[in-house]
Amino acid sequence: MNLWQDYIRPKNLSEAMDAFAHAPRPLAPIAGGTDLLLDLEQGRHSPVQTLIDVTSITELTLLELRGNELFIGASVPVNCIVLDPLAGAHAQALVEACDLIAGPQVRNVATLGGNVAHALPAADGTIALLALDVQAEIASFAPAAVLGGVNTRRIPFKDLFLGPGKSSLKHDEELIVGFYLPLSKINQASCFKRIMRPQGVALPIINVAIWLERKEDAIKDIRIAVGPGGPTPWNATEAEKTLIGKSLNDETFNAALEVLLAQVGFRSSARRASADYRRHIVSGLFKDVLETAWQRAG
Ligand SMILES: Cc1cc2nc3c(=O)[nH]c(=O)nc-3n(C[C@H](O)[C@H](O)[C@H](O)COP(=O)(O)OP(=O)(O)OC[C@H]3O[C@@H](n4cnc5c(N)ncnc54)[C@H](O)[C@@H]3O)c2cc1C
Repeated sequence: MNLWQDYIRPKNLSEAMDAFAHAPRPLAPIAGGTDLLLDLEQGRHSPVQTLIDVTSITELTLLELRGNELFIGASVPVNCIVLDPLAGAHAQALVEACDLIAGPQVRNVATLGGNVAHALPAADGTIALLALDVQAEIASFAPAAVLGGVNTRRIPFKDLFLGPGKSSLKHDEELIVGFYLPLSKINQASCFKRIMRPQGVALPIINVAIWLERKEDAIKDIRIAVGPGGPTPWNATEAEKTLIGKSLNDETFNAALEVLLAQVGFRSSARRASADYRRHIVSGLFKDVLETAWQRAG
């Protein structure tokens, strides 16, 4: 049985708007297809009549500086992010995360937009973006079809997520256009690492991304993201508060770890790890990522 009946490949947002307005429903956007095709084949995604391929929509394929921000289009394959010097300069945690997604074949087609729209709480690119204080640009087609234009708006990254595998996007009306990241300044740095089963090429057991800014010997500001720390991509907000204004040493690390463990909502997943195991291994990974970001920002 075919997984879809109609396949449309718009070249720009205007053509995509036409497709969203007129294509037979139900429909879904497809980028690299590395999540969606498996979900369709294995019945985890409801059947679709039309797939709208977003990989040729020019506006979604750009990676460029825009004023004092870095824009990364939703359809940029994660391997291109790994190789991009702008991403390397301003989004080191994201580059490290993208470099660990799956194997080389998947990385050549898998996109950052697909990683985020799938809304898994430990998706590697998603956890890195969460630590980098990103905003998402969304194109919305329903009202635009009436007005004859494309509506775009920016939302805080966290507003994209409702629950495990459930984004706030309306799949037959909205697309992620891309992500806006603040440019990295002096004394700011980020880091991403994960713990994975040996030879694993899927979601990690646990991942941590940290962005921080140093002022001399103290942490001026920090964002800590842990996957899967809750039903949606999760920030360790209490640990962040504990560390701001402090120098990094054993005492401050242990205090931050204690509040992180009190706040985090690890769950057991049948194919990856138990909640208890995640609680056990998070301390070493958290320390490693925090120390690396601290040293990079110095
Ligand atoms: C073997 C294997 C290993 C993997 N390993 C990892 C891993 O280590 N880490 C990890 O995080 N992930 C991993 N994944 C999952 C997957 O590869 C990534 O999540 C990938 O980034 C998904 O991107 P895609 O372009 O293939 O998305 P698709 O499969 O095309 O789409 C995924 C979802 O996003 C929607 N979508 C896509 N683009 C947009 C858009 N612009 N706007 C709105 N909705 C959109 C689709 O409708 C669909 O619901 C792995 C997958 C496989 C098959």
